[in-house]
Amino acid sequence: MGFALAGLSALGTLAMAQGQGRGQAPPAAPFMVHQLKPNVYWIEGGGGNSGVIVGDKGVIVIDAKTTAAGGKELLDNIAKITPKPVTTVILTHSDADHVNGLAAFPAGVKVIAQENNKKEQEAALAAGGRGAPPADHLPSQVISKNKESLKIEGVKFELHHWTPAHTSGDLVIYLPSDKIVFAGDVIAGGKTSDPLIHLEKNGSSEGWITTVKGIAALNADQFVEGHGDVLTKADVQKRLADTEAKRAKIKDLVAQGKSLDDIRTAVGDPPPAQGGGRGPGFPSFTTVVYQELTKKGA
Ligand SMILES: [Zn+2]
Repeated sequence: MGFALAGLSALGTLAMAQGQGRGQAPPAAPFMVHQLKPNVYWIEGGGGNSGVIVGDKGVIVIDAKTTAAGGKELLDNIAKITPKPVTTVILTHSDADHVNGLAAFPAGVKVIAQENNKKEQEAALAAGGRGAPPADHLPSQVISKNKESLKIEGVKFELHHWTPAHTSGDLVIYLPSDKIVFAGDVIAGGKTSDPLIHLEKNGSSEGWITTVKGIAALNADQFVEGHGDVLTKADVQKRLADTEAKRAKIKDLVAQGKSLDDIRTAVGDPPPAQGGGRGPGFPSFTTVVYQELTKKGA
């Protein structure tokens, strides 16, 4: 049907810059539809990756792109896959590049999110500004348990929240029948990227390790990142091992009383001006761990 089945996105970094929702709109990333299973797709472009699951009578969408225009383009792409209506959206977390495209979705569509995601959206709405989420599409069903099994449009879903990681309201979506995981931005940016932790949304580097251990333990073989390509279980395990080793090294250096600059050099980070974090305004993983550990020690 002419869908691209391969293709590595180099646009994750740009799209990431939208994460806090207060930045400029990113250059329009082209939409690309990828099929994973007969009824499961992921769509890149216009913000974070979205998942599309075609059920018996309706469609379930995971994450909604950055803007109303992006949300509309997502819906247009879904309409080329199936004539069934979108009935449900599941959000992986509260960042604008995964949420704000909901503005283009039909009124009354069900929006499922972790309870802290809803709190973060309400706070962003109260604060106002360009990155605020659409007020008429706040989550209508919140998940407060660590694991919730749901059947939506005849499709089995497991929704997991182990502990705060990328944000306090992360939700990992697992399709047990298809062995597919949608990880949101807990895992984003490819095989070797450091994790992005939003401390301002009570994310946690230690929580990231707990969460990715949980993800790696799921019986799945395709892991859709929040930005970037689909990973294998071996890729996820390698990112976990690399991150655990890096965090342990930073912890060791903090215990020795090293400065952040010295630690950055010791772990081989690029200078901050070169993008020590991922995208403008985001502190690097090293900075995040340093802040977490020195605060705790104070
Ligand atoms: Zn994010």
